[in-house]
Amino acid sequence: MSEAETDQDRAGHAAGTSGAVPARRPRIAAAVTAAVLFAGVATVLARTTPWNPLPGHVPGGHVRPDPALDFTPAEIARSRAFDSAVTPPAYSGLLVGLALILVLGLTPLGARFLGRATAKLRRRPFLIVLGTMALTTLLRVAGLPFDIWGESVLRRYGLSTQSWPAWLVDQAKSLAVTWVIYTIALLLLYALTRRFPRYWWTGAAAGGFVLVVFASFVYPLAVEPVFNKFHSLPAGQLRGDLLAMARRDGVPVKDVLVADASRRTTSLNAYVSGFGSTRRIVLYDTLLKSPPAQVESIVGHELGHAKRDDVLWGTLVGALGVAGAMCLLYLLMTSPRLLRGAGLDPGGPGAGGTGPDARRGGGAADPRSIALVLALVTAGTTLAAPVQNLVSRHIEARADAHALDLTRDPSTFVSMQHALSVRNISDLDPDTAEYVLWLTHPSAPDRIAMARDWARLHGVQAPPPLR
Ligand SMILES: [Zn+2]
Repeated sequence: MSEAETDQDRAGHAAGTSGAVPARRPRIAAAVTAAVLFAGVATVLARTTPWNPLPGHVPGGHVRPDPALDFTPAEIARSRAFDSAVTPPAYSGLLVGLALILVLGLTPLGARFLGRATAKLRRRPFLIVLGTMALTTLLRVAGLPFDIWGESVLRRYGLSTQSWPAWLVDQAKSLAVTWVIYTIALLLLYALTRRFPRYWWTGAAAGGFVLVVFASFVYPLAVEPVFNKFHSLPAGQLRGDLLAMARRDGVPVKDVLVADASRRTTSLNAYVSGFGSTRRIVLYDTLLKSPPAQVESIVGHELGHAKRDDVLWGTLVGALGVAGAMCLLYLLMTSPRLLRGAGLDPGGPGAGGTGPDARRGGGAADPRSIALVLALVTAGTTLAAPVQNLVSRHIEARADAHALDLTRDPSTFVSMQHALSVRNISDLDPDTAEYVLWLTHPSAPDRIAMARDWARLHGVQAPPPLR
């Protein structure tokens, strides 16, 4: 490839010289591919999201969610007080983190910081590894005061069982996990930008898809054990009942695992992770003191996820979204305006492999653009979160409906939801911003109302108000 061709490619000029492929072509191809992939994701989500998790007409209409039916004034007041205590650290942490990475990525500050942090290094892969570690550490440290603030609220309300040193070890572990994931992803990305300056988006899209699927598959084996120890639910009545319920449901479950969550929290939870041979149903050990019928109700919900392969489905749709995002990333990373704004030379020093800065490569291939990449990725994930949350809430409602179909016991479901949200001090009345930004599950009053809908729909005695 000639130098002129490369420069033209990076500058994004439309006019081509004879023999040179105009840079416009890969940009148009990337834009079309991004549009096709995003349209595909939107179509799949529109068609497969269970918008109406309880099919059929509910006799007498839907039950209106009302916390006052099942929660005492004291429980409601405590939930409100807790919510107003955890909200400020959560929002300010989100805003500060977002502002910091956007300032670093969209102004020359990030490139300058990375240039200084990696000034002594000669070899390009080391530049990428150290740059990634330096930047993710900086962001983590900036978020730490807000996390300490949030954790101190959990402590005040008796939700955290950790000592501060143990909590700090957790933070260090989570930073280490971030280093590993980001370093692998960025080493691959920068290898592509250097090797294929015009068509790296094809490799990044395919590679992004494969990496997301791979990460979701190995997550239960590679990441979960970093934070928790797991053991099989011991033989006995509960284990026998749960496995029998799974058999009845036609979901092949060989084992139910228990996580030592009590070393960190008093809250109650259960989840499904992985898919194929890594799929597992995990109960928090805090849950084992609950009445067995309530545990069955929770496991019924998890079986709903397993039966529908919600994790695999979410992974595939997410991976498709990431592939589209990589095409979009190319369009933005080849924008001379964004690159100049970020303090990077769009033509790039050493673009052709000569000069003192050849180790860096120019434009998007310059590892100092890591700050810009992270800023764009953060902006993308922040914008995608409300859609993910919306879809997730409907999938969770479908898993609830599955639990009700399986146990045919809406009263236990209601008492379980009540116990769960009193113990976890859940928000009983989330506002719109909280639904949009944070809520992956319907609120407890929403879930309880659906259980009453289910009872009406199936002619079963509706669970009476708990108070
Ligand atoms: Zn769920």
